[in-house]
Amino acid sequence: MHARGLRFRLHRRDLPGTPDVVLPGRRLVVFVHGCFWHRHPGCRGCTTPGTRPEFWKNKFDANVARDRKATEALIQAGWRVETIWECEARDANTLSRRLDAMFDQA
Ligand SMILES: [Zn+2]
Repeated sequence: MHARGLRFRLHRRDLPGTPDVVLPGRRLVVFVHGCFWHRHPGCRGCTTPGTRPEFWKNKFDANVARDRKATEALIQAGWRVETIWECEARDANTLSRRLDAMFDQA
């Protein structure tokens, strides 16, 4: 992101959900979410452990609900909210494409 000449801040704790990246000038926040904990739909990383299904379901449901609440609060406050998944961030080309698409819209 530095290479793109963008000004941003990391981990703003004063915003709902503590977004990983915040671009105040563009009113854009970005979450970098782990596919497992945040349940990336249809992703290979979105697995469910075989033991204690009830425990995991509750945990995952709570994470997803928290993400949704934070996103809603941010949108209410006038932010655009983007999510980059762990599996996308792992591949430099994919990540680069995602960032380009994100900033073109801004
Ligand atoms: Zn994923």
